[in-house]
Amino acid sequence: MDKVSSTVEEYLKTILRLEEKFEIAKTSVLAEVLKVALGTVTNTVEKLEKQGLVIHEPYKGIKLTEKGRKIALEVLRRHRLSERLLTDLLGVDWSRAHEIACKLEHNLPNDILKNLEKVLGHPKTCPHGNPIPTSCGEIFEESSEPLLNLKQGDVGIIVKITEEEKEILEHLRKFKLIPGSLVKVLEKTSVDSLMKVKVEDVEAFLSFRLASIINVKKV
Ligand SMILES: [Zn+2]
Ligand SMILES: [Zn+2]
Repeated sequence: MDKVSSTVEEYLKTILRLEEKFEIAKTSVLAEVLKVALGTVTNTVEKLEKQGLVIHEPYKGIKLTEKGRKIALEVLRRHRLSERLLTDLLGVDWSRAHEIACKLEHNLPNDILKNLEKVLGHPKTCPHGNPIPTSCGEIFEESSEPLLNLKQGDVGIIVKITEEEKEILEHLRKFKLIPGSLVKVLEKTSVDSLMKVKVEDVEAFLSFRLASIINVKKV
């Protein structure tokens, strides 16, 4: 198959992430995440459907076909291995690494990627804890749940940050809210939607929104 454009790759990757979260990608949500007009999304999705990459179910949303999913997983693989390259070998901060990886993910040849994976020692996840798809297109998700699900007194180990955004990542890092850290829920108040947590030895306040994108494994 011919190489698809970076725009197509960006769409497929985003649809995959939305499917993981909501089972199906709604056109309106896709437009919001990609920061483009709804009309543009509708047009592009139509093109993707003609290429056999997605199925658009009227009034429901968009799903990837087998072919579309394969490409989306390849993009994720390039993204997450690029992040590892940047943080592990080049010492780049994890928030910046994500931004740069958004560009590298469209441009790394497969043979280079294989070598990179070997040099990195076949990492299982990106620096933010999200699983790296294998070269065969398989992805293994470690079981975890949003920190928000935990109750007062519960303790969990951070597994992954499900939304990689520069500002969010910078903020989380300051409080050591990174994969592998131990978090204890000290207080949860619905009135102001805040969670008070203890990360290793530091106390921090998290909005419910932030607590919903940090996934943990309860211990
Ligand atoms: Zn990233
Ligand atoms: Zn990542």
